[in-house]
Amino acid sequence: MGKFFKESISKMFSLKEEIPRSTDLVIVGGGLVGSAVAFFVAHKQTNREREIMVIERDPMYTTASSSLSAGGIRHQFSVTENVQMSMFTTKFLRNIKFFLGLIDQPPPDVQFNHQGYLFLATPEKAEKLEELVKMQKYLGAEVEMFSAEMLKQRFPWLNIDGIEAGSLGLNGEGWFDPHSLLAALKQRNIGLGVRYIDAESRDTDGDMFETNCHQVVNCAGPWAGQIGELAGMGTETGALSIPLPVVPRKRFIYAYHCHNGPGISTPLTVDITGTYFRREGLGGMYICGASPESEEEEPSIENLDVDYEFFNEKIWPRLAHRIPAFENIKLKSAWAGYYDYNVWDQNLIIGPHPVITNFLLANGMSGHGLQQSICVGNAISEMILNADTYTVDLSRFNFDRIIRREKILEDFIV
Ligand SMILES: Cc1cc2nc3c(=O)[nH]c(=O)nc-3n(C[C@H](O)[C@H](O)[C@H](O)COP(=O)(O)OP(=O)(O)OC[C@H]3O[C@@H](n4cnc5c(N)ncnc54)[C@H](O)[C@@H]3O)c2cc1C
Repeated sequence: MGKFFKESISKMFSLKEEIPRSTDLVIVGGGLVGSAVAFFVAHKQTNREREIMVIERDPMYTTASSSLSAGGIRHQFSVTENVQMSMFTTKFLRNIKFFLGLIDQPPPDVQFNHQGYLFLATPEKAEKLEELVKMQKYLGAEVEMFSAEMLKQRFPWLNIDGIEAGSLGLNGEGWFDPHSLLAALKQRNIGLGVRYIDAESRDTDGDMFETNCHQVVNCAGPWAGQIGELAGMGTETGALSIPLPVVPRKRFIYAYHCHNGPGISTPLTVDITGTYFRREGLGGMYICGASPESEEEEPSIENLDVDYEFFNEKIWPRLAHRIPAFENIKLKSAWAGYYDYNVWDQNLIIGPHPVITNFLLANGMSGHGLQQSICVGNAISEMILNADTYTVDLSRFNFDRIIRREKILEDFIV
């Protein structure tokens, strides 16, 4: 047994409620990842033998990335585990009634749109894309390669200038409403005895409550690095000198109307520039976004203000080039959220910290955490409940790779 986490991590600040003095499992952060962890532990244990407490400082989820995301789910990744994690989530969403349904209530409706993802490729990148599609199909994903001409036939709204080919998800990919999923998970969790506490985990003196517990799971999304520091990461020597490399990075989503835009069967389309768009509802609305092209262009994270110039100068011209109907659009609204950005390799970090062994990490999924949250929740539950086998082997994604200075790089970053 390694070092126990610093007492500061179990200190919490709350104006509203008394916090239990002891519990078994504390989950810091009640977004999709934290709620999925709580669900799988609570759902699998037979006699409610573990008390589970979720600490959430923003119960309306006004700044949580789970509720500010684009809702996308795809099986098209270059890292095999990333494919498997999203496939796990698709299966869960398809069986949501079994997992999250409540007696005498209609099944949760997370509005899963199965229109798929379309990744476009230049002549230089087409061969690599084809190789990856083979790997995804081998893992069971229903993805197909299309030549530019075939794409034009299928999607007449697409300008295939500079495009050699594209890969299209035919089943199980698309987008869903993350807020509805979070609400359904939370409701089910409360029914299973999970306590959501309106409080903040932080390290200051004053009117603090302290809770003793056996294990803590860091599910603080973009703020996971701060919780890592509370636990001692990056503050001492040896393995504890290495901080958790997860920081908030601001990303924008713009919603616009186009009266003659692509129709109902339009996939979430990712252009060769990295700019993406998808349909939003049925009334000619779409949403779009893109990541900045370099570190220098990263927007300030001070607040969640929207950069409209980014839309005008970068996003709109690229969209209008690829989909000429988008020359004529009306921007209706926009918002910003934080990616839970892993500055080391932009991939999941999961499992017990190698020194603070009762402090578990479920962090750093960067732009793909929504679709991985359900699988990550299940994987953490398997660790906590000492499962004999793991549904998806995520051992490569533990913190040791950061200590060893190894990276897992994903080609399909959006
Ligand atoms: C604009 C945008 C678009 C995205 N699009 C997609 C997409 O299409 N597909 C996809 O898969 N992913 C997408 N993502 C990424 C995805 O949203 C995140 O990876 C995922 O939601 C992370 O979930 P989480 O539960 O870890 O974090 P969050 O949802 O942020 O939850 C963390 C919670 O922890 C709480 N918290 C933090 N610190 C403390 C503390 N000290 N004490 C108490 N509570 C605390 C916060 O209040 C928050 O509610 C997108 C993200 C953004 C910003």
